[in-house]
Amino acid sequence: MSAIEVVEPATERVMAEVPRAGAEEVDAAVARAKAAFPAWRAVAPAERARLLRDLADAIEARHEDLARLEARNAGKPIGDARGEMGMVVETFRYYAGAPERLLGQTIPVAGGVDMTFREPLGVVGLIVPWNFPLTIASWKVAPALAAGNCVVLKPAELTPLSALELEVLALDAGLPEGVLNVVAGPGSVCGQRLVEHPDVAKIAFTGSTEVGRGIAAGAARTIKRVTLELGGKSANVVFADADLEAAAAAAPPAVFGNAGQDCCARSRILVQRSCLEDFLAALQPAVEGIAVGDPLEEGTQMGPLISAGQREAVASYVPEDAPVAIRGDAPDGPGYWFPPTVLAPVANDDRAAAEEIFGPVACVIPFDSEEDAVRLANDSVYGLSGSIWTGDGARALRVARAIDTGAISINSNTSVRVSTPFGGFKQSGVGRELGPDALEHYTDVKNVYYATEGG
Ligand code: NAP
Ligand code: MG
Repeated sequence: MSAIEVVEPATERVMAEVPRAGAEEVDAAVARAKAAFPAWRAVAPAERARLLRDLADAIEARHEDLARLEARNAGKPIGDARGEMGMVVETFRYYAGAPERLLGQTIPVAGGVDMTFREPLGVVGLIVPWNFPLTIASWKVAPALAAGNCVVLKPAELTPLSALELEVLALDAGLPEGVLNVVAGPGSVCGQRLVEHPDVAKIAFTGSTEVGRGIAAGAARTIKRVTLELGGKSANVVFADADLEAAAAAAPPAVFGNAGQDCCARSRILVQRSCLEDFLAALQPAVEGIAVGDPLEEGTQMGPLISAGQREAVASYVPEDAPVAIRGDAPDGPGYWFPPTVLAPVANDDRAAAEEIFGPVACVIPFDSEEDAVRLANDSVYGLSGSIWTGDGARALRVARAIDTGAISINSNTSVRVSTPFGGFKQSGVGRELGPDALEHYTDVKNVYYATEGG
């Protein structure tokens, strides 16, 4: 096996080398998972719950190390990484409540008793990106295991370290061998093999819409269940009747968080024209004040991009003649830095407003009426998240219902909570993660009819 050289994006230095898995390692991991499945699905629900709680405790005990590892490998501020590791722990605890609550139904029918069961699928393949490596892995691993499946997790090649730690912690916490397997290798080899593998029942994928399309097509051959969490280009709609100070303070973290490498990024800031100048005036100090720098330094709010290639892709959206209205700070190299950048005004069909940039670039798009705002918000192939800022409650709910998106928040810039469903409309994906909904995607419904009247 060759080695993956894992690079620290803030320094461009190699921070670790790990063996690079290939198709053979995927086959071996799937075989281990398949062998472990009959015993794992038979573990008593309360015992499976206990093991998941023990895993949560084991992660919590390593919270600071894991946060530092993730901060270095993904280039994210240590404060953010701590928050993410907290969410990982919470996610395992939340789904530890599931094994004993995976309820079926009894359905009134003639001649007998009809009941349903939620059965695990078997071996599930989990493919995750580099932007929130362990967090997104936990959103998949925890419900999959809670429902009685065995998993093969493929982290992104750029950020395999936290997933490899999780594999060790799971064994330490007492999960049986083969229940949680990690294969660190390239998507085109390991991811693809998981998608093709006849013994894999389901693929849960988070990543780009382009790769997601190929996964959906590849999975069709073996009729695998597929859930996809894909890209976004979400709207942050600011009405003139909003608390503009609050809206302007909340807008930068909503798009520059994780250096903009966030599928939830509210990267289209739709602002009512009558308050455009005031909003931009309030936005400017908020953007210029973002502390960009060493991810391990306390107080850093934005780190580097993940790679040189990502920086090049982001830069292509800010050519010489781009309408740069605000530009924040960024250190000089080494490191894949890019300054927080606001383009204004931008038309909704400009390339920077239409495509997911996945970097710290926000587009400010003016609108006139509420109707206009809804039309512009919906004029996108994506529909993942979004925000509405207004002091008018009826308008807030009207607009929230009218925008085609999987999660929208009113007078708030966050949309991800452990207990609430998260996922996309349109080309942002299929299926939901988190909350009770995720469990449905890791089980199939079985209907059992017991004749009580002689057949
Ligand atoms: P990506 O290129 O689609 O990769 C995602 C994962 O898929 C990685 O593990 C990758 O492996 C693997 N992969 C690549 N090619 C594959 C193939 N042919 N078959 C199977 N697996 C394959 O996405 P990314 O560049 O890592 O992440 C950025 C994208 O993810 C953005 O578009 C963003 O919107 C999206 N995203 C969505 C969400 C959400 O919840 N909706 C969350 C985060 C990110 P390697 O990288 O190791 O090759
Ligand atoms: Mg990629």
